Amino acid sequence: MIRASGPMPLADYMQICLHDQAQGYYSSRKAIGSRGDFVTAPEISQMFGELIGIWCASVWQAMGAPASFILAEAGPGKGTLMADLLRAGQSVPGFIDAAKVRLIEASPRMIEQQRQALVSYKDRIDWITGIDALPNEPLILVANEFLDCLPLRQFVKSGPVWRERCIGINESGGLTTVLGATTLPTESLPPGHQNEPDGAVFEASPAREAWVSRLAQHIEEAGGAALLIDYGHTEPGFGDTFQAMRGHAHADPFAEPGRADLTSHVNFSVLSAVAETANLAAPLPVTQSRFLLEMGLLERAGQLGHGMTADAQEKIKLQVERLAGPEAMGGLFKVFTMADKRTADGLSNVPPFSSAPSTPAD
Ligand code: SAH
Repeated sequence: MIRASGPMPLADYMQICLHDQAQGYYSSRKAIGSRGDFVTAPEISQMFGELIGIWCASVWQAMGAPASFILAEAGPGKGTLMADLLRAGQSVPGFIDAAKVRLIEASPRMIEQQRQALVSYKDRIDWITGIDALPNEPLILVANEFLDCLPLRQFVKSGPVWRERCIGINESGGLTTVLGATTLPTESLPPGHQNEPDGAVFEASPAREAWVSRLAQHIEEAGGAALLIDYGHTEPGFGDTFQAMRGHAHADPFAEPGRADLTSHVNFSVLSAVAETANLAAPLPVTQSRFLLEMGLLERAGQLGHGMTADAQEKIKLQVERLAGPEAMGGLFKVFTMADKRTADGLSNVPPFSSAPSTPAD
């Protein structure tokens, strides 16, 4: 396509590399797990999904325990988080019986894995293609490492303007970044952009914003809450966060299109603004570390390790450190929640509503 029509914006490149039905990353590669390219929190420990299950059940109670509601997950990967969530949710009477599970997944290969992981719940599960296909019923939606893979646009400071980064072909036939003709209007840039040096990068993800905006509108109309966990920053800023992961290491995102996972950091300040526009309650994002500890990670770890061998207990301790250690996932990952205002009123004892910091998490 680049040969035929010239350089392509980064967002299009990302979309095609990840989702091409034949050669795209999610349809052709074993992405997640120790034998794949990256390991996610639900794959590190069952405690992650269990605590999210307890969070969902608390939200359901705050909503007045409706007899029927939609329990959705976006980008469920191998289905591990949902399996752990549903198992833990059984401790709250009525919660699972009221849940209609809807999984939002683009990759047929992933859907097959999810079907296998969740076979014991098959009567209450269905797959849908996006937010627009959610029925008009109260919603609890969770997503881990989903927003980071939605297409990203980058703009590069070039003299007085910011020009869109595109992917073109270099002299030896390989892929390289070039500056496209599209420039970003200055009102879309954060303060201080005039002082950035030539070559500075500004990122925007209209696809991510649109997705969260549709979700927020749905929650405003149908009622409910969402929990979105991802790596990212809580203040607007400049810098290149586009990355490729392959075999648990950073890779060149242009070397072998479709063979590496492509992501970027989530700008949570944009999401907070989107939630406010839709008239939802959205506490400032908290670190994953704070969220999991306040949800009872240490207590759950103690319970899980009770009566186990010293080796098994040591394993659980390492899992806690990976999930919640400030230098590990705990500090980099942020937890963003939004809820309709009535539901939020009932969540004053539930993190992060109970603990929202008055300053951003990083
Ligand atoms: N949440 C999982 C998987 C994260 S990987 C975990 O924590 O392990 C990202 C997931 O999102 C994959 O399942 C991928 O196929 C899916 N995905 C990526 N882009 C998508 C899109 N636009 N629509 C639906 N699913 C998408």
